[in-house]
Amino acid sequence: MNLVMIGLEIHAQITALKSKLFCSCYGNYRDLRPNTNICEICSGLPGTLPIINKKAIEYATMTSVALGCKVPDKIMFYRKNYFYPDLPKNFQITQYNVYGFSSIGADGLFELDDSKKIRITRVQLEEDPGRIAYSEEGMNVRNSALVDYNRAGAALIEIVTEPDFNDPKEVRVFLNKLSLMLEHIGVCDTLLEGAVRCDVNVSMKGGNKVEIKNINSFKEVEKAINYEVTRQTSMYNRNLKIEYETRHWDDRKKITFKARSKEEEHDYRYFPEPDIPVIVLGNNFVSTLKGYMPELPNERFNRYVSKYKLTEHTSNILINDKKLADFFESCVKIYFSPVEIANVLITDLKSFIDNNSESTDYLSNMKVKPEHIAELVKLIEGNMISRLTAKDFLIKIAESGVSPSEVLNSTNSFKIVDEKTLKEAIDTVFDNEASAVNDARNNPEAINYLLGKVMKFTKGRADPKIAASLINIKLRQSEN
Ligand SMILES: [Zn+2]
Repeated sequence: MNLVMIGLEIHAQITALKSKLFCSCYGNYRDLRPNTNICEICSGLPGTLPIINKKAIEYATMTSVALGCKVPDKIMFYRKNYFYPDLPKNFQITQYNVYGFSSIGADGLFELDDSKKIRITRVQLEEDPGRIAYSEEGMNVRNSALVDYNRAGAALIEIVTEPDFNDPKEVRVFLNKLSLMLEHIGVCDTLLEGAVRCDVNVSMKGGNKVEIKNINSFKEVEKAINYEVTRQTSMYNRNLKIEYETRHWDDRKKITFKARSKEEEHDYRYFPEPDIPVIVLGNNFVSTLKGYMPELPNERFNRYVSKYKLTEHTSNILINDKKLADFFESCVKIYFSPVEIANVLITDLKSFIDNNSESTDYLSNMKVKPEHIAELVKLIEGNMISRLTAKDFLIKIAESGVSPSEVLNSTNSFKIVDEKTLKEAIDTVFDNEASAVNDARNNPEAINYLLGKVMKFTKGRADPKIAASLINIKLRQSEN
């Protein structure tokens, strides 16, 4: 009964850029003292001229292509005029679809799943405003506010969808897939604070559209929509008129509240930016770009399954963490054993890095490097160490950055394949575990228990296959 219609406006920063969209200030404004990352251009002093960042056009084009949009031959920029303290120039340089010009991407289609596709209205390139920090009491208590222009002028990609979502859950799936796509094409590190933001419009069939702004993380989007759907449903049932308005999301109280009556597009007095000429992309621009554009997540998934013979489950775990997938590929380049490398990364490495994965650079800051994983897998496959030992090695490497062979030499952790040594270990375990030995004659699980004890006794070094067969032999012998 598609009563609810939801559309999205997503703002994703091009965090891959070194500089802002129209000047040479740092693109990464994070961790800088307020108002130190600004210049004449991004603070809009009279007489200055913006110079477009060519890389920003490339990244925005890649995003458009990935979203199935048409990319025009020529693009233009517009001024969107409004007064707000975070906007030093009192206008924002953005794009607009008018006079036969479109933004850098238009009319795309993004597949949610087999049965549902979301139409992408447009992709546009624009500048980020600065930031306002309100006093502790929250956004609706305006005792004081501070402004920081470090972010002003950073490059932003705006992605606008048609109101094709009928359920907040679809929105969540879309945003997850979109984030993954932006990560894989290298446009945006979506884990960075404020790197992706989302405005939502929600309407009940026949009712006015309500826009919700200020949703600062994708996690909050679903909650905000749920709240708004409940609010509008209750008004609808009581025959109350739903106003055309902008509401803000208060992520502490988990409610939306009215901010202002919605302004119309013509209130912004769009006009062509006179300081930036029409940019001719040229006929070959898109095809050349496609040539060196990174793989999309689904392309990468297919390659992992077909070329590397990974299971779909394993491939998904890697693809869902782009940095882990890159790390995996670096290992595979050094030593081609994709299945075992994926195994070590997912079962052993990931378990102890998950604690630090909030930090976006956890893999590059880690002392375990692809060379280490490649060497470790070589040792496992060469039957030099057991999988259990490998896990201990990883912890040692993570602590000190030494190589697996150094750990092996210094700890004498070679896998025990020598039958005499293994038999001695098994004898000791049998002596200590008399009742389990009795059970093991009828119960295969008790054999695994004994094997576990042997592994423990040898500090994980026993070759489990040889040890298991020796245990079986000894059980049969003691039966007679
Ligand atoms: Zn600047």
